[in-house]
Amino acid sequence: MTALAILVAAGRGERMGASRPKAFLELGGEPILLKAARSFEAAPSVAGIVAVVPVEEVEAARRFLNPLRKLRAVTAGGARRQDSVLEGLKQAPDGFDGVVLVHDAARPFVEVALIEAVARAAAEHGAALPVLPAVDTIKRVREGRVVETLDRAELGAAQTPQAFRLSLLVRAYEEAFRDRVTVTDEAMAIERLGEKVVAVPGSPRNRKLTTPEDLAWAESVLAAERAGARA
Ligand code: C5P
Repeated sequence: MTALAILVAAGRGERMGASRPKAFLELGGEPILLKAARSFEAAPSVAGIVAVVPVEEVEAARRFLNPLRKLRAVTAGGARRQDSVLEGLKQAPDGFDGVVLVHDAARPFVEVALIEAVARAAAEHGAALPVLPAVDTIKRVREGRVVETLDRAELGAAQTPQAFRLSLLVRAYEEAFRDRVTVTDEAMAIERLGEKVVAVPGSPRNRKLTTPEDLAWAESVLAAERAGARA
C-alpha cells in the first residue's frame, strides 16, 4: 500500500508561549516537525510526505526536511487546521486515490506501528483514527456549572494520524466547506456524512505537545530513551 502523509504544522501554537510556532521548536536538538516526519519516513506504507507550515517558515522547513527521501512538498498553511489540510491535499499526485494520513506535527513520538495500523484500517474501511481511552471522568460544564457527567466507558481522546481514502476525505471536506462548518479534526468531517470511522488503539506516547510542560515531558522521554540506549 502507498499512502500520502500530510503533516500539519501551520498553527501558531500560542499556548506554548514561544516565539516560534511549536513544531519548529527543538526537541533533542532537532525541530519537532522533523522528528515527527522521521516516523513517516520509516513507515513502509508511506510513499510521500507533505509538510504544511506557516508561510514564513516554508524556506526553513524545506532546508531541514530536505534529507527525507519521501519528502514531496513543503507548502504554506491556512487560517484554520482544515484550511491547512486542504493546502496539503492539493499536493497529492494527479490521479492518486490511495490513503491519506493527516498528522499533527506537534506529536513527534508517533510510532511506525501506529501509522501502519491506521493506514491499514483506512484502506479496509475508508476512515480510521487512533483513540486513547479517557482516564478521567469527563463533565459537561456550562458557565462554571456542571450540567452532565458523561459515560467514561464510551469516551476517548482523538489522536493523529487520522487516515482516509482520499476520495472520501475530499467529499467530506467539500461538504464541510460548502456548509461553512469548522471541524476540529478530519474524522469529524467524515462523521457528518454518516460514514464509518474506525477507532484503533491510541498511544500515550503519541501526546500532542501543547504547553511548556508538554515540552519538558518530551525532553524527559528523550533523555530516558538515550540513557536506555547507552545502558
Ligand atoms: O491547535 P492544535 O494543537 O489543535 O493544532 C493541531 C495541529 O494542527 C498542529 O500541528 C498545528 O500546527 C496544526 N494547524 C495547522 N494550521 C492551522 C492550525 C493548526 O496546520 N491553521
